[in-house]
Amino acid sequence: PFDVLVIGGGPAGASSAIYAARKGIRTGIVAERFGGQVMDTLGIENFISVKHTEGPKLAASLEEHVKQYNVDIMKLQRAKRLEKKELIEVELENGAVLKSKTVILSTGARWRNIGVPGEAEFKNKGVAYCPHCDGPLFAGKHVAVIGGGNSGVEAAIDLAGIVSHVTVLEYNDALKADSVLQDRLYSLPNVTVIKNAQTKEITGTDKVNGITYVERETGEDKHIELQGVFVQIGLVPNTDWLGDSVERNRMGEIVVDSHGATSMPGVFAAGDCTNSPYKQIIISMGSGATAALGAFDYLIRN
Ligand code: FAD
Repeated sequence: PFDVLVIGGGPAGASSAIYAARKGIRTGIVAERFGGQVMDTLGIENFISVKHTEGPKLAASLEEHVKQYNVDIMKLQRAKRLEKKELIEVELENGAVLKSKTVILSTGARWRNIGVPGEAEFKNKGVAYCPHCDGPLFAGKHVAVIGGGNSGVEAAIDLAGIVSHVTVLEYNDALKADSVLQDRLYSLPNVTVIKNAQTKEITGTDKVNGITYVERETGEDKHIELQGVFVQIGLVPNTDWLGDSVERNRMGEIVVDSHGATSMPGVFAAGDCTNSPYKQIIISMGSGATAALGAFDYLIRN
């Protein structure tokens, strides 16, 4: 059996695997797609000490770094069940059952897509999901934020300080964000809020040049010229496969303590699949290190 089995090969999983392997314990990592969300990212400018890098390049470095150690890497494998028996068991979709004394869950998350024409086509060409990551790329430009929940309104407030104008498009007739956020949003001079707006299409040529929405009250199409669209309709953790095996919050995020421990003894979690408040590469890596050290502590005590 493994001492530490990591599920997920993004920044959190890679960091967990390296920290665990450096303790000289038997470490394995299962990853459906090594690199995780980083593989979908173009420019990265907030990975501290690296002024600029690109997703696929960082993903390759993650894998190269893990390979420096004696880690059993199982790529293109998806975990489908977690169960505590004498050891902790993880069943893969191919039917294999892996056994380990401790497990670190780092299966990440995915941004919910709006699913309109232009979204996929202009990803990284004006369509963005992360204001902390991509906000500065739109300095001085006009952008839309789709979604009027807390994350959309937070994104709009954040972006308003960087871009020239922010238009918030909300499908319903009211914003869902907390009222203190709404008050702050409405106090900003360069923000327009459009409610009852159903996004229809993100338009562009080689990059985004506008957005078309249906005014739901009249059924009319409206078009706004702009250069960027931030889709803020939710970040979904990849945790459905866990069922009730470990405690998850209302959003489906795995609940962890300060050592990365979950509700199941010996099972730790890190990165975007957890209830960590902010989802970033550097934060995932930090929590991956914490979870691995937490697992090591658990091993020497049990
Ligand atoms: P992920 O990166 O999501 O990795 C999850 C891993 O788990 C993957 O290997 C996946 O294949 C695997 N997995 C999932 N389910 C299973 C399963 N059942 N079995 C086996 N494996 C599974 N952050 C920044 O700091 N700076 C940026 O500039 C930045 N830009 C971004 C741009 C985009 C377009 C996106 C989508 C995200 C961006 N982020 C950025 C956020 C950052 O990518 C994430 O915070 C980070 O990747 C989270 O790391 P993670 O390891 O927790 O999860």
